[in-house]
Amino acid sequence: TWTQVQTKSDREAIWPQKQLISIALKEWDIPYEELDIGEEIGTGRFGTVYKGKWHGEIAIKMLKTDPDRDNQAQLQAFKLEVAMLRKTRHENLVLFMGACMKLPQLAIVTSLCRGDTLYTRIHLRREKFTINRAIIIAIQVAQGMSYLHAKHIIHRDLKSKNVFLEGGKAIITDFGLFSVAKLCHGNRTGEWLTIPQGWLCYLSPEIMRSLHVGSRTDKDLPFTEASDVYAFGTVWFELLAGEYPFKSQPPEVTIWQVGKGIKQSLSSLQASRDVKDILMMCWSYCPDDRPDFTMIHKTVDHLPKKRLARSPSHPIQLSRSAES
Ligand code: ATP
Repeated sequence: TWTQVQTKSDREAIWPQKQLISIALKEWDIPYEELDIGEEIGTGRFGTVYKGKWHGEIAIKMLKTDPDRDNQAQLQAFKLEVAMLRKTRHENLVLFMGACMKLPQLAIVTSLCRGDTLYTRIHLRREKFTINRAIIIAIQVAQGMSYLHAKHIIHRDLKSKNVFLEGGKAIITDFGLFSVAKLCHGNRTGEWLTIPQGWLCYLSPEIMRSLHVGSRTDKDLPFTEASDVYAFGTVWFELLAGEYPFKSQPPEVTIWQVGKGIKQSLSSLQASRDVKDILMMCWSYCPDDRPDFTMIHKTVDHLPKKRLARSPSHPIQLSRSAES
């Protein structure tokens, strides 16, 4: 009876899953009116990101909702993602602070990353990373990713645009949101396969093979831990080569080649065998042949670091910071 203290399993039996999620999420609900929305930072596929204030500086990702879709289904999908985001507490992951969970305005509130993305540093500023620096960044990304996978969260959109370098740390953003986008805004069919720029080179062969012209790009794609590892391989390549794999190749050629198991040639990449082996393992054709992030972390950490020239006034310090 209700006079007894209820156990967790009693509660689960009485309340449907939906209600349990709503209760668990109450403390993460941020009333939209409490946000002080500032300037726009940028717009991506899933929505627009603004600077803002809410107990300090924050980033607000306003999600595009689809007016043609069932509101309750969109809200429920969003809540499921928020339920997942609140479990993420790691120094290499952006800090999730809460969400606006009332339609029509769904938004995700995170800490504001102040540095630049890896994409900006590599592709816009054309910065060259030393191998030591590339190793430190890769280790931090692998740490954040192995944590996400330990929590059974698949990133689905790991790329250099979603890694910030801030105060000596690599910070991963945008995890898990791919399915929110799919549920909120991805219910479109058309004649064309729309491929966002700089997206293809992160897609593993099994995902490439599931892309179909005339269908939604992000619907039911087989994202797994192993496809995140493939995407990490591409980030590792960008760090080493300073460019995207399959650069300036038509998308259909890349789709065909990767789907068949053809990899970007590494012949012009100036790097040791060990460094290239990591790339080849992450880009393995068969998902089961790809290492997990714990293994990647260990392997990258064991790569020989280049010794820096010693000067009496500047003794060598191989700092573990991504800015070093
Ligand atoms: P895509 O939608 O294809 O992933 P994107 O990464 O550019 O592209 P968003 O993730 O929506 O799109 O980001 C839009 C802009 O906001 C980008 O410039 C991104 O670097 C920036 N941004 C996202 N999250 C934060 C954050 N927490 N702090 C600071 N800037 C952020």
